[in-house]
Amino acid sequence: MTPLIFTLIALPYAPEALEPVISKETIEYHYGKHLQTYVDNLNKLIAGTEYEHMALEQIVASSQGAIFNNAGQILNHNLYFTQFAPEKELVSEGMTELAIMKAIVRDFGSLEAFQAEFEQKGVSLFGSGWVWLAADKDGKLVITQEPNAGNPITKGLRPLLTMDVWEHAYYIDYRNRRAAHLHALWQIINWNEIERRYNE
Ligand code: MN
Repeated sequence: MTPLIFTLIALPYAPEALEPVISKETIEYHYGKHLQTYVDNLNKLIAGTEYEHMALEQIVASSQGAIFNNAGQILNHNLYFTQFAPEKELVSEGMTELAIMKAIVRDFGSLEAFQAEFEQKGVSLFGSGWVWLAADKDGKLVITQEPNAGNPITKGLRPLLTMDVWEHAYYIDYRNRRAAHLHALWQIINWNEIERRYNE
């Protein structure tokens, strides 16, 4: 069996398309350099091991140490970068009819209450990591804080939406202002993609 070689995912938008929320320069570093490095590292680390024929989610669910860190970071960034769309392409019409929106209102009270709690959990995560919206096996929604390369699939949850709180995600555009960066990201969340993940 030929080993799997992981590659950099394609972005569903141009590198400047998320401006001013995320600059082209941040995309060039965050996607073009940081994510590329995780991909290169993982390919080297898994060569000749039991992991070289596994899907990414499987590696994340069953590995530790450097392999987990690099596989987790690839999975996390793939979900992160594909959840955005240029603001001008987003339509809010019909959004309240999405199953994910109805579940958010059911489990958090309102979209605004969910967003406030999500941002607070992102701001209060000490050091580097990720804040997630995830669903349990019954479709109930939870917000989790994961340190470093963590992903809620290791807790048996399905990851739906995420914000990266590593400084490399925001330092070029927002310097130390993590809260301002997280708050701005809602403007470019593609809820149709989150809906697709929720219904999967
Ligand atoms: Mn990152």
